[in-house]
Amino acid sequence: MQRSKIKKFLVEAGVYVLIVNVAFFSFLGFKNYFNPDRKQTDDSSTTEKFGFTEEDHVFIEAKVQPNQILANLLMDEGISYEIIKQLFEKSKGVFNVNNIVAGLNYTLIKKDSCGELLSFVYEPDPFNYVVYDFRDSVSVKKVERDYEVKIETAQGFIESSLWNSMTDIGLEYAVIGKMEEALGAQVDFHRVQQGDFYKLLFERKYIDGQPVGIGNIIGAYYENDRPHYTIYWESGEDTGYYDELGNSSKKSFLKAPVKFIKISSKFSYNRLHPIHKRHKPHYGTDYAAPHGTPIHSVADGVVVEKGYGSGNGNYVKVKHDKSYATTYLHMSRFAKGLRKGTRVSQGQTIGYVGSTGLATGPHVCFRMTKNNRPVNHLKERLPSMKALPHAKLQHFFIHRDSIMQKIDEIGTPATLALNEGMMP
Ligand SMILES: [Zn+2]
Repeated sequence: MQRSKIKKFLVEAGVYVLIVNVAFFSFLGFKNYFNPDRKQTDDSSTTEKFGFTEEDHVFIEAKVQPNQILANLLMDEGISYEIIKQLFEKSKGVFNVNNIVAGLNYTLIKKDSCGELLSFVYEPDPFNYVVYDFRDSVSVKKVERDYEVKIETAQGFIESSLWNSMTDIGLEYAVIGKMEEALGAQVDFHRVQQGDFYKLLFERKYIDGQPVGIGNIIGAYYENDRPHYTIYWESGEDTGYYDELGNSSKKSFLKAPVKFIKISSKFSYNRLHPIHKRHKPHYGTDYAAPHGTPIHSVADGVVVEKGYGSGNGNYVKVKHDKSYATTYLHMSRFAKGLRKGTRVSQGQTIGYVGSTGLATGPHVCFRMTKNNRPVNHLKERLPSMKALPHAKLQHFFIHRDSIMQKIDEIGTPATLALNEGMMP
């Protein structure tokens, strides 16, 4: 039986719910390959905590209270104002002492419970702690904890949505978000179908055996009408997710030049102009955004025009390739250092939203031309993916093959069913 038929059978038989499965394991050689510079937790049991021997010290653990500030906390422990002032000085560049957050852990370290305060340790997140040391001269240091990275796997069937399926098997939001990012270029997660299935290979970080966070998704598989693989690849500025052929998950053009978009006026061959009160073509899309919002180049390119026009206000034109160019109008100001001939990359800030020229309010009028003719970028079939440079492809393929093998080893839910004797 073909895989798709097995899948269909399982869905019809209603047994797919039973075989949703999460498998956790790690392979250390694999881990070292991916994280050559990460330190492993020392396995030998240590009797030191925050650099203080456990036998000779008392550790009083507490949480920062709402509205509690560090200076008051330390003064309550008998630290003088003079010392606190020194501490604030020495904290500069190490940790902003005004950043202690209610609800997070701190530890007071003393010789004995009535003794003077030797050290105050604050834990801004699971990966770091800050040690304020009052012995001898005052000192401040931020210490990065050793953490272990394990490669874990997960797999599941879609019943209603990716979200439901992944939370059902105990995956946290961070994994779901990263999975959507990893496969978003290939799979439309708003249109998943019952019976689709996925497999994941991802990093989970551990400190002292406790899970503390998610790393990268290093490979993922999604099968709907056909199989989709995505592979995470670290390679300088090309680091990111790629499909089997080396196409980047990044679009070659962003959908809009500003984030959190609100389209205030669409591209039109015949619109009533808000200022001229006449019907005129509008060869652009207006995005309303607060004054000063950064405007990004939607794709890599070269600045070919930067100037001011009575209608356009401050504007920048970027040429992306032989066919496409984009123009951004009504800027309040240009990005620092930007000039004609500057190379810009996708997402780079080229200016800021304003209402210079003929504009009723702060917005960016975004225009795209193809072979010098205006086109509606929202209707245009733009090249969808950035491909990896040829020089890097062979290297990528070696990595791809090892990841795809790991993904295939996870096994599909259907083969699990076979192993468990669920097939007739
Ligand atoms: Zn416009």
